[in-house]
Amino acid sequence: MGLNSIGVVGAGAMGTGIAHVAAMSGYQVVLRDIDQKYLDNSIKRMTSLMERSISKGKITEEDKANTLARIKTTTDLGDFKDCDLIVEAVIENLDLKKQVFAELNAVCKEETIFATNTSSMSVTAIAAASGREDRFCGIHFFNPVQVMKLVEVISGLNTSEDTIKAAYELAQKMGKTPVHVKKDVPGFIVNRLLVPYLNEAAAVYAEGIASAEDIDTAVKLGLNYPMGPMQMLDMGGVDLTVTIMDYFKEEFGNEKYAPELLLRQMVRANKLGQKTGEGFYKYDA
Ligand code: NAD
Repeated sequence: MGLNSIGVVGAGAMGTGIAHVAAMSGYQVVLRDIDQKYLDNSIKRMTSLMERSISKGKITEEDKANTLARIKTTTDLGDFKDCDLIVEAVIENLDLKKQVFAELNAVCKEETIFATNTSSMSVTAIAAASGREDRFCGIHFFNPVQVMKLVEVISGLNTSEDTIKAAYELAQKMGKTPVHVKKDVPGFIVNRLLVPYLNEAAAVYAEGIASAEDIDTAVKLGLNYPMGPMQMLDMGGVDLTVTIMDYFKEEFGNEKYAPELLLRQMVRANKLGQKTGEGFYKYDA
C-alpha cells in the first residue's frame, strides 16, 4: 500500500526499538512520549547502539545521521496527523491504550492504520475504542526489536485483509518475518506456547524431579533451545508468568492454565528472578 511515515506512541524499550528499526529501514518516523526527557533518552539509546555498530564496521556515520534525521520526536499527539500507520507501545494498561487510540482517531487521516504492540491484551477490545476497527490490528514485536526477527500480526474480530497486508509490508521492510495470528486469542502464538511450558518446568522442579541446573541442561542439550526454562523464568520475572497464567485461566475458562503453587509462593517471597536478585538462581546485586 506504500507506507511512508510511521508513528510510534511510547518511547520505552519497545517504542525505541520500533522507531529505530523503522527509521533505519527508510521510514519517516514520528515518536511520541508524554515528556521530552523520555524521548531524549530514547534517542540516546539508539545513538549509542548505532555507535557500537559503527565501531564494528556494520554501519557508517552517514547511516547513523540519516537514521536520526528521519525521526521526529514530539510530545504532541497532533504530530501524527500525516502518518500512514501508527504503532502504539505505551505501558500495558487497557484504559490508557483505549484513550490513546480515541485521541489518535480524532487527529489522524481516515485511512491511517492503527496497530497495538500489546503482548497480552485483546486486540479487539483495544480496537473498539479506535473508531476504525477494520483498520486496526496487533503488530507484536519482540524485545530487543533491533535483534529479534519475529513479528506476530494479529487480526482483531473486525480487522480487514488490507490492514494485515499493510502490517506485513511494514514488518518485511523492517527486515522482520511476520506470521499471521488469525484469531485474537490470549498469548497469540509465542506466549500461548511459551508460558504453559515455563509453568510445567516449574512443576518439574517443584516435584523434585531435577535441579534447576539439570532442567536447563536437559532442555538446552536435548531440545537445542538456546536457554533453559528456569533461566528464562528468572529473566522474564516469575511474577509475569503467574500473571499471564492467571489471565489464560480466566480467558479460556480452563483450569489447566492454573499457575504452579511454587511460582505463587516465590512471588509472595519476592523471589522474582534477576530483578530481585533471586529466583531459581541467585544473582549479584
Ligand atoms: P516501557 O514501560 O518501557 O515504555 C512505555 C512508554 O510509554 C514509557 O516511556 C511511557 O512514558 C510511555 N507512555 C505512557 N503513556 C503514554 C502516552 N499517553 N503517550 C505516549 N507515551 C506514553 O514499556 P515497554 O516494555 O516498551 O512495553 C510497551 C508495550 O509493548 C506494552 O504493551 C508491552 O506489553 C508490549 N511489549 C513489551 C515487550 C517487552 O519485552 N518489554 C515485548 C513485546 C511487547
